[in-house]
Amino acid sequence: MEIDDIPRLPVNTETHKFNDWIIVYHKSHILKSMCPNNHKCIKDDDSGNCCELCFYEHTLELPHLPEMVFSKNKLTLTHKNGAKIEFNPLDALARVANRGKSTIRVACAEEWKSSRGESANLQEVKPFDWSFTTDYEGTFNEKIRCEDTDAKLDIFKLMRKEHILFYHDLSLFEDELHDHGIASCSVKIRVMPSGFFILLSYFLRVDGVLIRMNGTRFHYETGNDYILKEYTSREAKFETIKHIPPAVYTTPSEIEKHLSITLKKTQKMFFD
Ligand SMILES: [Zn+2]
Repeated sequence: MEIDDIPRLPVNTETHKFNDWIIVYHKSHILKSMCPNNHKCIKDDDSGNCCELCFYEHTLELPHLPEMVFSKNKLTLTHKNGAKIEFNPLDALARVANRGKSTIRVACAEEWKSSRGESANLQEVKPFDWSFTTDYEGTFNEKIRCEDTDAKLDIFKLMRKEHILFYHDLSLFEDELHDHGIASCSVKIRVMPSGFFILLSYFLRVDGVLIRMNGTRFHYETGNDYILKEYTSREAKFETIKHIPPAVYTTPSEIEKHLSITLKKTQKMFFD
């Protein structure tokens, strides 16, 4: 690696070449909450006049969007053979259920309702997932082939002190649940001489009710023809973690180990 490859000050876009991969991030302002055409934009209008807000609303059909959608934020990794992995807020939000079928969701909304008293009318069980829970694992093109594996993510290898060639942290969306906690989705990447590591994470904290995390970790080791991907869902009710200092609740990496794993799957993503 040349001296030019060391991380520079944040800019709106940056490209980093690592072995046969081109890693690019784009970063910009949040989605505007006003439509310049008074919500009359037509999504498939060839004129290209559809505003971004209407595009999101028409595409996702959610009753409302998170308070902050970082619509321009995107992380893309492209291999020289054409394999492509991308992380963007539109695809993350497309994995939010809006048909109201999950019992967990309803139970959670009920708890939230009781935590605030019966008089508040905001907590009616809504026909969509107000927590924006997403099981998004990234967006892959057809050159990527995923296979289940018994291999495990090597945490010790990842914790090893190593020179960092490139690092970036991008928010995809965030919502403060009307001041009752937080729902956020973000992606982080770290490139080291031995490979790269990506953490895509969805974090939900409904104060007094529960904490939920859906995290996808990607580890590529130089020389491999695959990326190891591990998806984990974790959750805990507040009553089961009340012995833990509240300050820990706001630090996803700290609270994570106190949550129960509800789902875990590991796959190899072959790209060559
Ligand atoms: Zn519009």
